[in-house]
Amino acid sequence: MSDSDSGMSLKLRFSIITFSLLIAASVLTYLLVAEIVSSIVNSWGRRVVEIQVLNDSARILQPLEREINIAFDMAGNKAIQNLALNPENPELVDTALEEMEDYREVFQSRNYFVGLRGNGAYFHNNEKNEYAGRELRYFLDPQSDEDVWFYRLMEEGLDFHLNVNPDVELGITSLWIDVLMRDHRSGSGENVLGVVGTGIPLDAFLSEVVNVHQAGVSTLFVDRYGAIQLYRDPEMIDYASFVKPEHEKHTIDLLFTNPEESAKAYSIMEDLLDADDFHTVKTLNAGIDGKQILAGIAYLPTIGWYEISLLDIQEIMPVSRFVPALIIFILVLFSVLGILTLFLGNEFFKPIAALEQATRRLGSDSHEPLILPRAKGEINGLVRSFGEMADAIKNNTAELERQVEERTSELKSLMLADPLTGLLNRRGMSERLYDQKERSSRTDARYGLVWIDIDFFKEINDTYGHAMGDTVLKAVSSIFVESIRPYDYAARWGGDEFLLLLSLKSNAEIFQIIERLLASIRSWKLEGTPSVTVSIGATTSDGREPVDDVLQRADDALYRAKEKGRDRVEISD
Ligand code: GH3
Ligand code: MG
Repeated sequence: MSDSDSGMSLKLRFSIITFSLLIAASVLTYLLVAEIVSSIVNSWGRRVVEIQVLNDSARILQPLEREINIAFDMAGNKAIQNLALNPENPELVDTALEEMEDYREVFQSRNYFVGLRGNGAYFHNNEKNEYAGRELRYFLDPQSDEDVWFYRLMEEGLDFHLNVNPDVELGITSLWIDVLMRDHRSGSGENVLGVVGTGIPLDAFLSEVVNVHQAGVSTLFVDRYGAIQLYRDPEMIDYASFVKPEHEKHTIDLLFTNPEESAKAYSIMEDLLDADDFHTVKTLNAGIDGKQILAGIAYLPTIGWYEISLLDIQEIMPVSRFVPALIIFILVLFSVLGILTLFLGNEFFKPIAALEQATRRLGSDSHEPLILPRAKGEINGLVRSFGEMADAIKNNTAELERQVEERTSELKSLMLADPLTGLLNRRGMSERLYDQKERSSRTDARYGLVWIDIDFFKEINDTYGHAMGDTVLKAVSSIFVESIRPYDYAARWGGDEFLLLLSLKSNAEIFQIIERLLASIRSWKLEGTPSVTVSIGATTSDGREPVDDVLQRADDALYRAKEKGRDRVEISD
């Protein structure tokens, strides 16, 4: 397709515009789809995280609640309480130990501990019954760092507490369930006798509850203060959280490295404490380790901890999964453009371009027939109108050309004619003379030249006026025309001087014509006009000599006729 003079072709401009629109539409679509997808993924993720949290809390609470209940039962055990009230009475020890052993059998991890406030006695036995007969392991020391938890618990007066603590003595890290032993006989239960409980080996618990191998999901448990209690990464766990100074704690600040997100998490945790429904799960968007994480937080009142489930949205539902659909959409968009371009090309651009070329051909004055494109609808109307217009222009042009030709030939004959008499003028006659000479030299056909000059014409002008002179000139002219034959020529050479060119088969013909002419002039008479005579000089030629020589010879003859008294004919051989 050719470019129009004013720059880009219609089709190119159309293609550029549609292409740009398409790119814009694609980008917008992508942004829109990405937005929709991320909002779908987000709300879906919220739901997943909620279910995850509820599911997890059930999973952790079930075993824990059972252990906690047993621990509470143990704390209220009469025999054990009796011993606690009288720790120095050795008779009470055996009965209490019997009870403790019974509880050992019931606890899931087959271990227990009992710490007595009175004398700091610490009883413990484990799954392997390792300490049978020497269950009194040692005496707690309020001055020892190792034992500070015991005294702190009683000080704080928390009935129940979970503590993740490495037991140096036992060489294992456990999740300890600590329950205060209160003296129920004192009524108010103000009197704290000691702490009892059991330890669940952390490894087992973690693998059971926390290390759920679910791609993109991880769970952690934190205490009221945000200290990490259970997490798949043991390094992050805030061991012995209870007795640690604030700044040493491993809190969720380690996770939510962005202070704002961390603050938000704390505020959510605060809100959850006031929530009526303990199944409430709140969510938080956060960036963790450079990943976009959706965190679900729920409070587990039974154990006083929070569960936080972290969902890696990109891993669970990557936005890239929507890319094929997007690509298909964009491909469809491009195909639509292709089809549209094809359609417009056939229906619109092609006929328009062909029409444009036809217009050029029309303008370039070429006589080739106009080939018009085939089209449909409005474009066809346009093409038809163009065809009609082109025809009109062609006809008009032809008419103009004809008129110009006519005018030109008119002008030409005017140029060669004498305006007064309508005979050839000197220039017109000169052309004929040379034509005749050429023809004669080729064919041996002879021609004759006859000079005619009106006698004393000046006198007519002087006597009757110039107008009368003109009338006479016209009258003799028409006599000359009548006297010659259709293939002869008569010219007014100038003034009252005329020249006849006669085609001759024989010399005799020239005499006949001159005689006929003279007779006509002599017999010519018009009301109020003077009669005229003419002098004639004539000669013939075979066309071999120059025209000027022949003219001169005839002129000499005329001169002689004038000399000899006028009104006569002189013929030169
Ligand atoms: P001669 O017998 O020697 O030819 O005498 P003449 O008077 O005819 O002399 P000449 O041929 O020399 O004179 C020509 C005159 O024709 C001179 C001029 O005034 C007159 N004449 C030339 N052209 C025209 C014209 O167009 N109209 C009229 N009325 N007179 C013309
Ligand atoms: Mg004269």
